[in-house]
Amino acid sequence: MHIARVPGLDCVDLVAPGTAGLGTAFGVTDPALLCNTSVDVTSLKAQGPSDFLDYLAARGHSVGPDDFVPRSLVGQYCRERLSRALRQLQARGVEVRRIARHATGVTPAPDGHGYRVALRDGDTVTGTDIALCLGADELVLPPALRPFDGHPRLIDSPYPTERLRRLPEDARVLVLGSKLSAIDTALILCRVPGRRITLVSPSAVLPAVRTRLRRMPVTRLSEADWNSLDPQDPALDTRIARLLLKAVHGCAAPGAAPRAHVTGLAEELLRLETQLARDRTIPWQDVIAELIDGLNTHVRDWDPEQRDALLLRCKRLISRYISAIPLSNAQRLLSFLDSGQLTVASWSPEEIRPTADGWQVRLPDGGEERFSHVVAATGFRAPRLSVTDGGLRIGSGDGPVPDIGNDLRLRLAPSGPPERIWALGACAGSRYPIVNYLRASAQHAATVAAQLFPPVTASSGRTSS
Ligand SMILES: Cc1cc2nc3c(=O)[nH]c(=O)nc-3n(C[C@H](O)[C@H](O)[C@H](O)COP(=O)(O)OP(=O)(O)OC[C@H]3O[C@@H](n4cnc5c(N)ncnc54)[C@H](O)[C@@H]3O)c2cc1C
Repeated sequence: MHIARVPGLDCVDLVAPGTAGLGTAFGVTDPALLCNTSVDVTSLKAQGPSDFLDYLAARGHSVGPDDFVPRSLVGQYCRERLSRALRQLQARGVEVRRIARHATGVTPAPDGHGYRVALRDGDTVTGTDIALCLGADELVLPPALRPFDGHPRLIDSPYPTERLRRLPEDARVLVLGSKLSAIDTALILCRVPGRRITLVSPSAVLPAVRTRLRRMPVTRLSEADWNSLDPQDPALDTRIARLLLKAVHGCAAPGAAPRAHVTGLAEELLRLETQLARDRTIPWQDVIAELIDGLNTHVRDWDPEQRDALLLRCKRLISRYISAIPLSNAQRLLSFLDSGQLTVASWSPEEIRPTADGWQVRLPDGGEERFSHVVAATGFRAPRLSVTDGGLRIGSGDGPVPDIGNDLRLRLAPSGPPERIWALGACAGSRYPIVNYLRASAQHAATVAAQLFPPVTASSGRTSS
């Protein structure tokens, strides 16, 4: 979409093994699986009114900017917007090719003009400009489960969700994880009353509960606030906490004193936070979109070690708010907890052994439990990018990680020139703190499109990206 109007393009090659819009998050078909971001920020255009809201309104959906819609609608939106962008390119005479393959690396072309992208089957594609938009869909299987990869009673990812739906009506399921994909798993499995689901993780911390994640008309964290933060300051964490509290107080109703509730058993916290969200007394939620944009704009320039250390320290303070769940999902989870169908527990298995009819699991206290199935809902990561002798490797390799600039351009050597290779979305996670968010990918796409204009023309006169 962002390059559809860039002049001077000759050819656009889209290299991806699957269909755009049918990925892990937005390729789901189950209407119960909602976005945890409101329509306002779930847009392929990061600036101005929500393009996603326009898209939905034009098709008769009665939704507003605050609503959380089924993720399948985002997939449909992405597919239609891509088709429209490709038609616009073709109408201008730009050649468009879809190459349904897997890229494994990028190397500078031998003639010094542009790059060669290596494909898994041994072929190559060439281009003058390369945008790496590889997302984060590599599975992270916990070490205890790795020996059983491929076992018929081990579901290595909740997506696609058909495998969950096919489980027996009386299944007793152990779900490893307590974040968004574990919650998706519980929402799908608990629809059948006979099933019993246990969600476990060492922390058993569930995401917080919100009624919206959207941009707000008033800024609560000013440029001056961000600029006042010094990564070397020993009191940095306190300063950040104070700024956040000031911002949250600014969003609270007059006279209200919002309190953070960050401790307690998962179920107690969910109950409390669901009630607060029902009462609309969760002013923190109106700081989150601004906080994410602010972190991505201001903290990206910090020294990487200081930035990573800060984010690690602040994780407990902010991560469950950044990835909070919609109130409607929280209410459904509570009803499953109340009926006894769902349990959330804070342990991780000491040992998992397959048996004739399922799994025998040893708990840290020495106790044993039996489950019919195990689901790994332990998250996804971006493919590793690493520098090799001749260029860049995608997905494997133990070479150094390439440096990514604020402009998203990669450097293959620390003192080398920036390449015309850009890392977008999750690929830019070593530079941008919050990337697992469609809005971040949209912001990155706008950044890259701005740099492609005016375009660089190879000696062949052909510009391909
Ligand atoms: C379960 C889940 C729920 C989510 N919910 C939300 C939400 O509610 N709101 C929100 O804003 N964000 C959400 N996200 C994050 C969101 O999915 C991403 O931010 C968004 O999809 C990023 O878009 P992208 O195009 O950068 O990457 P992706 O959508 O991940 O697309 C990456 C593409 O690259 C392809 N690819 C990967 N490796 C290669 C390779 N080597 N060669 C060729 N192609 C390759 C993949 O097949 C895929 O087509 C969610 C993520 C998950 C996992």
